[in-house]
This record gives sequence, structure tokens and C-alpha cells, in this order.
Amino acid sequence: MLEFEEALARILALVPAPVLERVPLSSASGRVLAEQILSPIHLPAFDNSAMDGYAVRASDMTGASAESPVRLRLCGKLAAGETLAGQVHSGTCARLFTGSPLPSGADAVVMQEDTQVDPERPDTVLFLTSVRAGENVRRQGEDVKQGAVIAEVGKRLTASRAGLLAAAGLTQVNVGRQPIVGVLATGSELTEGGQPLAPGRIYESHRLTLAALLARCGGVPRTYPLVPDTLTATQAALETAFAECDLVVPSGGVSVGEMDWIKTAFAQLGGRLDFWKVAIKPGKPFVFGRLGKKLLFGLPGNPVSAFVTFLLLVPPAIARWQGAVQVALPAHPGVLAGPLSNPGERRHFIRVKVDEAGHVHSAGIQGSYRINSLAAANGLVDVPPQTTLTAGTTVRVMRWE
Ligand code: AMP
Ligand code: MG
Repeated sequence: MLEFEEALARILALVPAPVLERVPLSSASGRVLAEQILSPIHLPAFDNSAMDGYAVRASDMTGASAESPVRLRLCGKLAAGETLAGQVHSGTCARLFTGSPLPSGADAVVMQEDTQVDPERPDTVLFLTSVRAGENVRRQGEDVKQGAVIAEVGKRLTASRAGLLAAAGLTQVNVGRQPIVGVLATGSELTEGGQPLAPGRIYESHRLTLAALLARCGGVPRTYPLVPDTLTATQAALETAFAECDLVVPSGGVSVGEMDWIKTAFAQLGGRLDFWKVAIKPGKPFVFGRLGKKLLFGLPGNPVSAFVTFLLLVPPAIARWQGAVQVALPAHPGVLAGPLSNPGERRHFIRVKVDEAGHVHSAGIQGSYRINSLAAANGLVDVPPQTTLTAGTTVRVMRWE
């Protein structure tokens, strides 16, 4: 049985190189960048005012105070987006607003609150404080120099970085294509929601959860009809999904029962099984294989096992498929509010609930069919075999919510 890290490494090793596509920046947030981007311009693009106020020469302002204000002649006014034809000479000032270009000759801005305009003499302004050269001025290139790296290959584009690229004038970016991921559920007992439930049957509940998780990690989910437990149906379903998708994620049918057809059906389609079984709890019977460049991730049927093996092993592959460098689930430290115990022989990824204070609570009873405690959870803690972590221990919490 493979250790979790080894299983993940084998999966990542078989993920094909990303396929690039050029997309509008307006829809690129969340995508993985396939190019390094250098800023074509300075940001700010030009020296400009950080305040509503007046452009002045700082040397004119020496000694200005409320008791002995300095009076300067107003030589012009420029709104944001305008430029001043003339210069600010000694003894003059120019009215400007946040974002207005600093007119030539001026080297500082006095904010409006430190000035007075006498209605009798509207062509002059009284300054009640002095100012240093450069004060209230946002310098050209102070934030980003022209030619500086503003986005890196293999990084997920955040909404705020997309804003930076927009400010630098970009409208399109190269990103990794997103994989189409087929989501299947096998089991003759499974019933579609909305249908009456015959005796002994259950409602199918994996596909929509997995599709939601997939969409968040950058996969494009494609959900397929339920697959009854026969070899023919399983083979037909896998064949269609492999024809239409880049990655195929069935659940159920990967255990040792004679109704578990995934491995046989996959092999008969020409698929090569890479491994079966990972030394983790929940979710030991996980199947990974490859058909050409396409990959099979066969999840266990138990809902909690399907969820946990999916989270640990599928999003990293989807991230890498798009070219991401960082593929691990987000994680942070937290302090255990109570003990977490793993008396078993395999690592147990225990479902936990992290509260707003960062305290980590068990999400409830940890059975692999316990979807109620899974629904209450927002994180996983990796507890080693035969280990009890006591209250107060700082643990690493992997998060999906
Ligand atoms: P299996 O691995 O196919 O033997 O399934 C293990 C358990 O998970 C059985 O109790 C199944 O009924 C249940 N199960 C499998 N797939 C699903 C599904 N898609 N939705 C809900 N329960 C499922
Ligand atoms: Mg089954």
C-alpha cells in the first residue's frame, strides 16, 4: 500500500504538460498564468497628487503657519485627467485633485484642509502650514517600475493581481487550459434526487459535491448519469467519459467486492492501472490509472472516503494540469480544543471544525458514512497511526471551506 506522499507524487508525475490558451483578462481570475508579465508602463504612470489641494513649490512655503500664512497666486486648475499647459512658478500655486498630474515647476501638494481661500481675493490662496518637497505627491514608478515583473508563470491569478495587470494596460493573458473532468457515480442502489426511493436504495450524493469542489479548483466538471453495477454499463460509461473528458473521476466500485467493476472495465478499455490503495483513512481503496494522456481517479464509494481522497489527491492534479507550481491544499496552524485520537494503523485525516478563534474541534463521529459530521467540517487534520494529539497541541489544518 502506498504512502499518501508517494501516491500524490506518482499522480503528479503522470500529469501532462499544460496546454496554453489566451483569454481576456476580464475572465482570467482564478486561472493559472502561463507567462511571466513585465509591466509595460510605470505605475503611477506620472507624478500625481495624493490629495485634493494645491500644487506648490515647497521653497515658497518656508515658515507658513496659521499665525503667519503664506499667500500665493492661483495660476490654474487641473482636474484628474487634465494637464496644465503652463508652469507653477515661484509665488504661484495650482488647484488640483487626487490623481491630477503634478504640474511642472511644482514639487509638493498642500492639502485643501491646510489652506484658506478669501472670497474677496479668489485669485489667491492662503497656506496655513509649510510642506516638504515631495509631500502628498505619488511619484512615477513608485509602485511598479516599467519592466518590473508583475505576474509569474505557474501562479494562480488573484482578483487583485488581475487588477494590477489591468492598471498596467493588459487586456489578455496566457493561461493553462482547464481540464474537463468527468464525474461518475457507480452503484445499482443509487437513485437520482427527485425520484421515489425504492426499498434498499439510497439517493446519490457524490456527484454534486465533487462537481462543486472541482469547479473551485479549476476543473470543468461534466456530470454523467448513474452507472449500475455491471461490467458492460461501467465499461460504456468510462468509454464515453474518457472520450469527452481529460480526467475521469468515478466513485464507488473500487473495493474488493464482485460488484466492483471500475478496475476491470478500465483495464478492458486499455487503461493502465498505476496504483490501487493508499495508506490513509478514510479512503484506502483509491484507484489511479492512465489511458493515453488521460487520467482515472477512482474514488471509494463511502461518501466521506470519496470526499477526503478527492480533496487530497485530485485538486493537486488539476492545479498541475493547468501548470500551477503550488498544488497543495491551503493549510494553516490551529490549536486543538480537544484531543484527536487515531488508534489505527493508517494515517487518519480527521474531519475538524475550525472556529473563528482558530480553535480546532472534532467535527463529530468519524465514520466513513457519516456525512453529517462531514457537512459540519471545514478542515482535515492528519493524525499519525497510533497517536493521540492532546488538547492544546498546535496542528496543521488543511482547508477546503
Ligand atoms: P462501494 O465502494 O461502491 O462499495 O460503496 C461503498 C458505500 O458507499 C455503499 O454503502 C454505497 O451505497 C455508498 N455509495 C457509493 N457511491 C455513492 C454515491 N454516489 N452516493 C451515495 N452513496 C454512495
Ligand atoms: Mg458500489
